[in-house]
Amino acid sequence: MTTARLDHLTRDELARLAPRATVLVPLGSTEQHGPHLPVCADSAIVTDIAERAATQAALDVPVVVAPTLPFGFAHHHLPFGGTVSIGMLTYLQVLTDIGTSLHASGFRRLIFINGHGGNDAAVRAVGDRLVVENGLDMHVAGTSYWTCAADALRDMNLDVGPVPGHAGGFETSCLLALHPDRVRSDQFPPAEESVQPLVRLGAREAVIRQPGIWQLSDGRTDDSSRANADTGEKALENISDAVARFIVDFHRSSQVTA
Ligand SMILES: [Zn+2]
Repeated sequence: MTTARLDHLTRDELARLAPRATVLVPLGSTEQHGPHLPVCADSAIVTDIAERAATQAALDVPVVVAPTLPFGFAHHHLPFGGTVSIGMLTYLQVLTDIGTSLHASGFRRLIFINGHGGNDAAVRAVGDRLVVENGLDMHVAGTSYWTCAADALRDMNLDVGPVPGHAGGFETSCLLALHPDRVRSDQFPPAEESVQPLVRLGAREAVIRQPGIWQLSDGRTDDSSRANADTGEKALENISDAVARFIVDFHRSSQVTA
């Protein structure tokens, strides 16, 4: 079986591979991540998960990994600076255009794997646009990694903070595992300070928006003082395993005409 980087292949190689492969599109963001993490955090994490998962899934089914989309819907981070955001409707259209292009290139199985909370609504909607509204003959999935790997994360019972949170214990642990050189260890915020208020509501299923809520914090959801590379590596491994299983199940369940 094959795993391949979409952008490393030629037009003709893609034409041969596309009809029988699942293409994975990682969705990132470029946004502020507190004083101690780089603005690439979400993109770096989801790229790593996608590459590990694709490599593992490719033992069973053909997988192609597209370049990570480095921008998403992150208007809520604009007041902090260090953020590049695409508006909600534009972003949904960008995902729709990516899917339409991949269909035109011969792909019939597509998974958007998301790594940024602000993208989640559009990721949930894009399959309906492509398949139901636009009538593409394509098998489309959209999921965020913390949703796809919810069972594995529950079993892990991580003690560094909520997953993914934002610039807190989990994401800091992942960055310490992946790119320790990009973590500003001397800029760690003081423990338990300026936690983003929404996480305290406990209304996990509700979509709650209040003006100015993010500015009540310093741009993080939770404390990063317990972050460590070992926890980050274990979490990335388990999340990638879960995403790999999803890719294989998705591929095998697809009933599309190539
Ligand atoms: Zn993040």
